[in-house]
Amino acid sequence: MPVVLPMTIQQVLVFVVGCCLGSFFNVVIHRLPAGESLVHPGSRCPGCRREIAFYDNIPLLSYVLLRGKCRHCGKPIGLRYPFVEALTGLFAVLLFRRYGWHAQFGIEFFFISLLIVITYIDLDTFKIFDLFSLGGLVAGFGFSFISIQVTWEESLVGIILGGGLFFLIEKGYQWIRHDEGLGRGDVYLLAMIGAYVGWAGVVFTILVASVIGAAVGMIAMRRANEGLKTAIPFGPFLSLGAIGYIFFGHSFYAWYLGDLLGI
Ligand SMILES: [Zn+2]
Repeated sequence: MPVVLPMTIQQVLVFVVGCCLGSFFNVVIHRLPAGESLVHPGSRCPGCRREIAFYDNIPLLSYVLLRGKCRHCGKPIGLRYPFVEALTGLFAVLLFRRYGWHAQFGIEFFFISLLIVITYIDLDTFKIFDLFSLGGLVAGFGFSFISIQVTWEESLVGIILGGGLFFLIEKGYQWIRHDEGLGRGDVYLLAMIGAYVGWAGVVFTILVASVIGAAVGMIAMRRANEGLKTAIPFGPFLSLGAIGYIFFGHSFYAWYLGDLLGI
């Protein structure tokens, strides 16, 4: 007879594994744009370059035990490291609570993981790597054949709508401003998002990303006080919109179409 662990313990395990994966995502976020190897050498303190021992490299726990400082030189460890770990663990548990061990859990966790890595690399470098956007797109379309959230037709329309819409916006922006506003990376990213959430998700994602992006843009512009040319990458807002759709999209459409429009 198979041993079934109590649900609470399963959730704790999923969270721990999620945090460990988040720890790996930190490595990807910091090393991939610099063209460094992901496996060698081991983690080093950016301050004193000393190798970080395995017991100082436990997700979340080490940060708390070391009080956010390197054991050797005392240089503060960025809050981003434990944040990405906790975020990844949290999303893993939320999805696990929704789907259990169904394949959809893996699909959506993979999708959100891509978005986390893309977001932080975009914040650091203003780049979205094709490996994640186009690679993720191909994977997402493949997943749509076993997905319980989108059919492959919806996924395909999502890809075309996401990529197509943004391509048009990008061209229009260039035509009006003679300037590159949205990068090719954003076009690929939205197409990739479409592969996982379909056309309804793409519409939701653009809506949320535009509203939050405009609000943050205005705050940043005021702070910088240098007119319209404050560069903020758009990828993080698209990622935020897509993750919002994963968790709230269905209730949003149910509320919007049902309660508000009475359809
Ligand atoms: Zn150090």
